[in-house]
Amino acid sequence: MLAFDYVRAEAAEDAILQAERRAEAKFLGGGTNLVDLMRETIERPRALVDVTALSTEIAETPDGGLLLGGAAKNTAVAEHRVVRERYPLVARAILAGASAQIRNVATVAGNLLQRTRCSYFYDDEGSRCNKRAPGQGCDAIGGFTRIHAILGASPSCVATHSSDFAVALAALDALVHVQGPEGTRVVPLVDFHRLPDDRPDVETVLRAHELITGVELPARSADLPSTYRKVRDRASYAFALVSVAAALRVEDGRVAEARIALGGVAHKPWRAAKAEAALVGGPANEAAFLAAADAELADARPLEGNAFKVPLARRTIAATLGELAGVPA
Ligand SMILES: Cc1cc2nc3c(=O)[nH]c(=O)nc-3n(C[C@H](O)[C@H](O)[C@H](O)COP(=O)(O)OP(=O)(O)OC[C@H]3O[C@@H](n4cnc5c(N)ncnc54)[C@H](O)[C@@H]3O)c2cc1C
Ligand code: SF4
Repeated sequence: MLAFDYVRAEAAEDAILQAERRAEAKFLGGGTNLVDLMRETIERPRALVDVTALSTEIAETPDGGLLLGGAAKNTAVAEHRVVRERYPLVARAILAGASAQIRNVATVAGNLLQRTRCSYFYDDEGSRCNKRAPGQGCDAIGGFTRIHAILGASPSCVATHSSDFAVALAALDALVHVQGPEGTRVVPLVDFHRLPDDRPDVETVLRAHELITGVELPARSADLPSTYRKVRDRASYAFALVSVAAALRVEDGRVAEARIALGGVAHKPWRAAKAEAALVGGPANEAAFLAAADAELADARPLEGNAFKVPLARRTIAATLGELAGVPA
């Protein structure tokens, strides 16, 4: 057991100040990921600044979007009337993850910042991991890679991001509201998480002592037919092998608007911009959906243990778009 300080913040400014005052401090949301990692001594903060008393509000914005407080619980978001009616893929993505008990305590901010489920990352004693110990090497490469990345990986790290919620947010062009010692800023969700490159330990663009205060669902992404489909090894309590968050607007049999993001395939939620570009203006049929998937997956570089993810992602993209367009796959 490693000793650490604990302090509870009542406001964002207070949380930032408390974190600045203490060496190696981390913010604490529901603790469902961070505390597990502390038990395994993968994370070793010397202080925890509890931010669960910060904004839990879910409120419509003046321009018709929706702002989710950083400390809002995953369950509260999934059950919120406006989320269910106007952004149904968000509710579906959250409900596809973890368990009811975990969703009751996990927060909006903590969900985005949960860490990878790469088993070598958790094996502190026996495995080399560049994310845990930069420069050490990566034992996943050449190892057991069923759950690892097929897009955007690097020779340093082939891990995937495990949040379902973040994949839905990527498809919706959600915005992450951030506050830090230098003030506030807004970061598009698609730019918030990083690809591994040669620094897989740096997972987001957050700077020292910056806090996520909220996530904004833009008005322009509302009311589109949308859904979230997750393929996993078990029907519940399992992370995605591949997931697809999609929103589709079809007019006169042609695709007028398409938003697609993939989960389980990369170090960050993967916005499928090539698939979207291939779809818009074309027919809404299965051949077009498969061609769009091929356009995105042409860049896939699977490992020995996860080549199955390429055809799986292809079929899941086509099936999800088919469901939204009313075209059975
Ligand atoms: C058994 C199990 C199964 C799971 N299955 C799934 C699944 O299928 N799909 C899925 O998406 N997730 C799954 N999860 C993960 C779960 O969603 C996350 O553990 C949870 O969302 C993390 O939220 P939290 O509030 O508990 O974060 P914490 O554990 O408190 O924190 C996580 C990280 O966020 C940081 N943090 C917290 N709040 C802030 C803030 N406001 N600003 C800046 N940094 C902050 C912390 O410092 C920490 O680094 C599972 C978890 C478990 C234990
Ligand atoms: S894939 Fe990434 S997280 Fe997994 S062992 Fe390699 S460096 Fe570590």
